[in-house]
Amino acid sequence: MLKIYLILVSYVLSFSAFGIDFIPFKYESLTQKAEVKSGHGLFQALKSVNIEGISALQIINALRDEVEFSKIKVGDKLEASFDLNNQLVEFSYSQNPAEKHIVQKNPLTQSWDYRFHQEETNWEARIIEGELKAGSTLHQDMLAQELTASVVNEVVQVLLCKVNFRQMARSGDRYKALLYERKYQDQIIETKVLYTAYLGKAAGNYEAFYYEKEKGSTYNAHYTEEGEALINSGLRYPLTRLHIRSGYGMRHHPVTGHRAMHHGVDYRASVGTPVHAVAQGKVVTSTFNEFAGNKVAIRHSDGSTSFYLHLDRKYVKEGAWVKPNDVIGTVGATGRVTGAHLHFGFKDTKGKWMNPLNKRMIATPKLEGELLADLQNQIESIKGLMIDLQVREQAPYLLAQIPNLPKEANVFEFLTF
Ligand SMILES: [Zn+2]
Repeated sequence: MLKIYLILVSYVLSFSAFGIDFIPFKYESLTQKAEVKSGHGLFQALKSVNIEGISALQIINALRDEVEFSKIKVGDKLEASFDLNNQLVEFSYSQNPAEKHIVQKNPLTQSWDYRFHQEETNWEARIIEGELKAGSTLHQDMLAQELTASVVNEVVQVLLCKVNFRQMARSGDRYKALLYERKYQDQIIETKVLYTAYLGKAAGNYEAFYYEKEKGSTYNAHYTEEGEALINSGLRYPLTRLHIRSGYGMRHHPVTGHRAMHHGVDYRASVGTPVHAVAQGKVVTSTFNEFAGNKVAIRHSDGSTSFYLHLDRKYVKEGAWVKPNDVIGTVGATGRVTGAHLHFGFKDTKGKWMNPLNKRMIATPKLEGELLADLQNQIESIKGLMIDLQVREQAPYLLAQIPNLPKEANVFEFLTF
C-alpha cells in the first residue's frame, strides 16, 4: 500500500513541478509480469500473473478471436494490472517484443475491450553463404554461423526434397540463402527464408524460392522456378500414441448394434489428449452434432480432407490455416459414442471415403496458371533483392578497380550472378 501511495505522490509532484495543474486520468494499479514456462498451458500461464477462475475465462474469451492460443510458446510474455481493490483491470499478451494484445476493462460497461499495440519494426535482407568442410554437415555449418535452429531446419528441409545429403554431400559443396529478417531494436523477431541454393559436386545444383500467397495460406512454401513445391509431404499422426480400437470397413456399430460401414479408424485415448493436424491445410468444418460430437475437418492442398470426431475441445475455427502437427483440439467422448476415442477419417481428392491408413502423402502441388505467374513475379523480386544486396557489397570495390567507368555503365554487367 505504501508503495502505491508513493507512486501516486510522485505523479502529482512531477506534474506540479512543471506547473501543470491537472492529474491524468489513469488507473493506479499493481502490475504482475510473467513468461510462459516450459510445459505450461494457457491456464497455468494466467495463474502465474494471478488470473484465475472467472477472470481467466473472461480474458480467454476476450482474446479468443485475436490470439492463436494453439501457438502459445515458452517465453511469451503476460502482464496483468490490478486496481486498488485487487480487481483485474488490464491484461496483455505478447508473442514477441514488438507486439502486444491488450484487453482493458471498460469502467462504464464492465466489458473487456481489445486493442492491438505494435511497435515499429523493419525488414532487412541479408545473404548467408558457406562451404561444407570435410566431416561437417550443412546443419552443423549453418548453426556455426549463429543462425537459429528454426532457420537452419527450414533450409535443410527444403534442400532435403532434392538432395540426399547422406550419400551426395561432399566437402567443398556450397550453399546460399537469402534471409528476410523483421527487426525490432536490433532483435530479430521473425525470419523468412526467401531463397535457398545448393551447389553440390555430386548432388548437382538446386535453387528454391519462397512464395507467399497470403498469410497462413497452404500455398506458402518453397518452390523451384518451374513451380514445383519443395515440402515434406508425409502425413503426421493425429495422436502421439496410437492404439487402434476399431479399423476401417464393415462392422457392428458399438452403439446401434447394426452392421454398417465404418468410414474411419478409431484410436483409443483418454479425454484431453491433444489431437494434431496430420498435414497442413484449411479448417473447413468446426462444428458440433449429436452423432459426430465436436468435429473438425481439414482440407489439404491436394484436395483431400481429414476428419477428427468426438473431440472434447476444438481449438480451431472454420477458415483457419493449420500446419502439420498443430494441436487442433483434444480427444473426447462427444456425440454418439460408448467411450472416449478419436475417430479419424479421410476423404480422397475426389471426395470419397478412404481408409486413412492408406493415405501416406499429400501430393505435392505444382503451381499453374495465375499462381505460377504470381510465383514467378515473386521470384523476380527475390532475385532483384539479391542483386541489390550484392551491388551494395561489391560496387565500391568494382568502382575502385575500374577508374574509367563510363557514366552510364550498368553496374550489373560487372557482377557475376
Ligand atoms: Zn469411428
